[in-house]
Amino acid sequence: MKEILDYDDDLNEKDIEENGIENKLVEEAVTNLLKSIGENPAREGLKFTPKRVARMYSELFNGYHVDSDAMINDALFNITYDEMVLVRDIEFYSLCEHHILPFMGRVHVAYIPDGKVLGLSKIPRIVDMYARRLQVQERMTRQIADFLRDLLKPQGVAVVVEAVHLCSMMRGVKKHDARMTTSAMHGAFRANLATRQEFLDNISRGASPLQI
Ligand SMILES: [Zn+2]
Repeated sequence: MKEILDYDDDLNEKDIEENGIENKLVEEAVTNLLKSIGENPAREGLKFTPKRVARMYSELFNGYHVDSDAMINDALFNITYDEMVLVRDIEFYSLCEHHILPFMGRVHVAYIPDGKVLGLSKIPRIVDMYARRLQVQERMTRQIADFLRDLLKPQGVAVVVEAVHLCSMMRGVKKHDARMTTSAMHGAFRANLATRQEFLDNISRGASPLQI
C-alpha cells in the first residue's frame, strides 16, 4: 500500500487503460533515460519515477484518444444569432514535439455563427484535445480553427494562441523568442479586415502579460 501511495497520482487504472498509453514501455524508456544520464534508477528519489512519468503521460497525452463526437455530445444548438462569439484566455498546456518540453499559454477563439452555436464549456475541451499531444504551436492553432469550421460551418472562425516554450527558455538560446503568437483565420475573419480587427482589438483589450 505504501508503495502505491508513493507514486499514485489522481488517475485511476481505468483512465490509464482508456488513454491507450503503453505504461510498461514508458517505464522502461524512463528507466533507460535515467541510466543514460548517469543516474541510478534504483535510488530512493527515483525509485517510482518511471511509474509516475507513465501515469502522468496518460494524462498529458490523452488528447490522442478523445472521441470528439462524444465530447460535443448534445452541446450544439440551432440559433439565429450572427454576431461574434468570443472566448478568450483559455489556458492550455502542451508539449513540443521537438524536445518533449512544455509550452503553455492562452488560446483565444472567436466565430460568427451561421445557424449553429456550441456550448461554451466545449471550447476549452476542444483546446485540450489538441494540446494534450505532442505538438507544434502552429499546427495546434490550425487544428482548433479547422475543427470549429468543420463542426459549426460558421461564417468565420479565428484562433489566436499565445505561448511560451520551455525548450527556448531553459536552454538559454533565443530567450527573446520564447514567447510566440500564432493565428488561424477562416471565412469572414480572413476576408473582412474590420471583422478581424474587431477580434484582435477584443483580445488585446485588458490583456495581462502572459505569465508562467
Ligand atoms: Zn521545442
